[in-house]
Amino acid sequence: MKRTTLLQIAKDYGSPVYVYDADKIQSQYQRLTSAFNKVKHVKLNYAVKALSNISVLKLFNSLGSGLDTVSIQEVQLGLIAGFKPEDIIFTPNGVSLTEIEKAASLGVQINIDNLSILEQFGTKHPKTPVCIRINPHVMAGGNTNISVGHIDSKFGISIHQIPHLLRIVENTKMTINGIHMHTGSDILDIDVFLYASEILFETAKNFKNLEFIDFGSGFKVPYKVGDIETNIEELGDKLSERFNEFCKDYGKQLTLAFEPGKFLVSEAGSFLTKVNVVKQTTSTVFAQVDSGFNHLIRPMLYGSQHDIINISNPKGRERFYSVVGYICETDTFANNRRISEISEDDILAFKNAGAYCYSMASNYNSRYRPAEVLWYKNKAHLIRKRETFEDIIKNQVEISFAS
Ligand SMILES: *Cc1c(COP(=O)(O)O)cnc(C)c1O
Repeated sequence: MKRTTLLQIAKDYGSPVYVYDADKIQSQYQRLTSAFNKVKHVKLNYAVKALSNISVLKLFNSLGSGLDTVSIQEVQLGLIAGFKPEDIIFTPNGVSLTEIEKAASLGVQINIDNLSILEQFGTKHPKTPVCIRINPHVMAGGNTNISVGHIDSKFGISIHQIPHLLRIVENTKMTINGIHMHTGSDILDIDVFLYASEILFETAKNFKNLEFIDFGSGFKVPYKVGDIETNIEELGDKLSERFNEFCKDYGKQLTLAFEPGKFLVSEAGSFLTKVNVVKQTTSTVFAQVDSGFNHLIRPMLYGSQHDIINISNPKGRERFYSVVGYICETDTFANNRRISEISEDDILAFKNAGAYCYSMASNYNSRYRPAEVLWYKNKAHLIRKRETFEDIIKNQVEISFAS
């Protein structure tokens, strides 16, 4: 998005504010679908937890996407946004049988990731087809090494438990209609991804009634110069060929599914903050913005690097700054970063602020969560109001104390 547009949005809607570029979301969606255009049936299920604003979900609905959800509340958001239940997959971890039954009763595809729930669900509802989440125990070791790891991960059913899984399916007479993996951030390169896919294909051969194979996500987008970005086109070529070959052997055209979050929305987002104070200490120049880890926790939680641009003074002389927030806790966004000269009241734009930013925001320090704006068809649309004091107190129950 243009710098001047972002400045205007900060002026019109105040700061801090999240801004999302619908064109970028759309082009990432199209890039991914066209990378797999050699497969007959492809389904992208956008991972709601990355950015769960209803207007963003509606945008995905208009693109023909499905949804990947991890809580019954995300399922409800998807239904409100107009998705059909059959276009939603429920992929939770460690939730109760009751919650899974609720999702199933709404007509949503359920995905079970442990044997205890699989056995209970299969016994009670043998007629509801179920997808199973497999843990292939694959991760990248070093740059190109493939190693077996994460045996202790809490996600998925271990491939070593397939014999037990098959016994449960046989005993309950339930139907398995999908096989799924999501190895998350472990998978950095294509060879590792393809290696894990082979394990999924091998597992799939055990089931006669499959409709889809879901390869999860874990696609990388660059956050800073030199970062790895998943080569989607190359992955598309290689996995499509292998998938089509598998379907031929299997004797049925299955659907190839993915559930990306970050890849689709990360780069579309900018987080705009205003500089309250420029504070010089004996060793550092701090730029203190009107935000903190209450609004964007990734740098403090994961050590993520979000590029920061001074959009009020883009051509200024570059100087070194530590960009920090205004909450009473260490809330460093960036250490010792070269940014063009910052003055108080300048607007700083944090890049890659689409995924896991607003959706992880809190009210810590009793601050309001920011507004969200969608830039769509050359117009700014407010898609979430900034909170007000009402929101801070609305669920609090005051009791009286004798004096
Ligand atoms: C979070 C999540 C995703 C999305 O992961 P990204 O890294 O954002 O692409 C996909 N599938 C499941 C099951 C998830 O929990």
